[in-house]
Amino acid sequence: MNKKAKYVFVTGGVSSSLGKGIISSSLAKLLQARGFSVTIQKLDPYINVDPGTLNPYEHGECYVTEDGAETDLDLGHYERFSNVPTSQANNVTTGRIYLNVITKERRGDYLGTTVQVIPHITDEIKRSIKVLGETGNYDFVITEIGGTVGDIESFPFIETVRQMKWELGNDCAVVHLTLVPYLKSAGELKTKPTQHSVKTLLEQGVQPDIIVCRTEHHLNDGIRKKIAQFCNVSKSSVIESIDASTIYEVPLLMKDEGLDVEVLKKTDTEIPEKIDLTNWTRFITNVKNPKKEVRIALVGKYVELKDAYKSINEAFIHGGAANEAKVDVKYIKAESVTGDDCEEKFKDVDGILVAPGFGNRGIEGKINAIKYARENKIPFLGICLGMQCAVIEYARNVLGFEGAHSTEMDPETKFPVIDIMEEQKNIDGLGGTMRLGAYECKITPGSHAFDAYKKELIKERHRHRYEFNNMFRKEFEGNGMKMTGINPGKDLVEIVEVKDHPWFVGVQFHPEYKSTVANPHPLFVSFVKESLKHKEERLKNK
Ligand code: GLN
Repeated sequence: MNKKAKYVFVTGGVSSSLGKGIISSSLAKLLQARGFSVTIQKLDPYINVDPGTLNPYEHGECYVTEDGAETDLDLGHYERFSNVPTSQANNVTTGRIYLNVITKERRGDYLGTTVQVIPHITDEIKRSIKVLGETGNYDFVITEIGGTVGDIESFPFIETVRQMKWELGNDCAVVHLTLVPYLKSAGELKTKPTQHSVKTLLEQGVQPDIIVCRTEHHLNDGIRKKIAQFCNVSKSSVIESIDASTIYEVPLLMKDEGLDVEVLKKTDTEIPEKIDLTNWTRFITNVKNPKKEVRIALVGKYVELKDAYKSINEAFIHGGAANEAKVDVKYIKAESVTGDDCEEKFKDVDGILVAPGFGNRGIEGKINAIKYARENKIPFLGICLGMQCAVIEYARNVLGFEGAHSTEMDPETKFPVIDIMEEQKNIDGLGGTMRLGAYECKITPGSHAFDAYKKELIKERHRHRYEFNNMFRKEFEGNGMKMTGINPGKDLVEIVEVKDHPWFVGVQFHPEYKSTVANPHPLFVSFVKESLKHKEERLKNK
């Protein structure tokens, strides 16, 4: 293809959590809708080499790419919006940059020079940005800088933006996202925090080209003028980003505000007249005006923190929209499910999802929930640990394997129905030691999984150490639990289904990572469909 990429940086000021990821994704969507190819990258200022070992309470879910990178959850937004797979190169942390530089230094690559933040660290940052542009695949590389300007941690990243802006001239634009708060007592929107955050950027040598203002109220002409004047941008480059009822509406709001046009102008790119957002608009219509509703329980360990299950939540939105339905997710803390309370806890749900996870906490609760779903013929989807728990539940309660377990929780169990993979056994430490990324899976025709995917060979993403133990395969298969998805190369069990049940599917992989607006995940679409069916029948029999 050999395209010459232009670079857009997205920085943030005033406060964290303003939604740089959503703004970056929305800009990507609009540029795509005008016919450009785009990739989005996130630079994270923390020292972890990747977020793989981070507790979800710290940074929310760990997102996994096709090539097996454990990344920030914003990459999930990038994929859901743009429908373009990301990779290791799309998420770079300070830790990774330093690790690369120190490795080079130890190898002697710097030939005796003093290794410094400028130029060595900044050069390494630059290299990891340009590597995407140099693939020749993209018209635009959008780079989101994590954190807030002024943070000590993000200095080298902002310095790199300064250098690249200088080097690239009109092939580069900087979008700065800020907050314009509304002061109730004064009855006014306030621009001062925006002015200050732009000053902070200026102190570091970066003049933003476009200012996107997060706000709860519309910006009037006066406010726009004021921000333009104080921050050295034209009025048309002051973009309002008002709170939206769904993140998926943000591209449409940004289009009305002309964010994409401003970026094209700043980067000297001819503005294509046509912009095609037909499918996107149809999706929003379905999300905003659902014809049906269904409640599905999500049984997990981190239910207080919705970001821990970000991709699952989004996959429910996509799968819901495909069924013209809204999915109301009822979070249930796994630890709290004792067994006798299942009737009470699940009486108002028509589907049960048991979430991925690590460690012992909440395991028995997950198993109790699965037993209830299986016995009461409630549509069930188990993801990763959720699938493993379904296997343990079946072993204990149907096959009569007392004390069956995963060796992750009980290394001494008599029935290790889930066990560590041979090749993982000798690995020390926890960083980067899992089966990660996309693997092939062959599906049995006639299974629920096959009905959903409508094809035999699929590729799904993994993030785990343990597997179904093939030693027990015959007992399961002979007694109603079918292995309907197998990794062809390694003969690993990837999908299990219970035969005598309307829809009971456990998957060793993470379907949620691959669900996008353009391609809602088939398993989520089917799961929601079956849950709607269950609801209809439940109401009929009432
Ligand atoms: N803890 C399990 C394993 O490592 C499952 C991991 C997960 O649910 N992502 O195999």
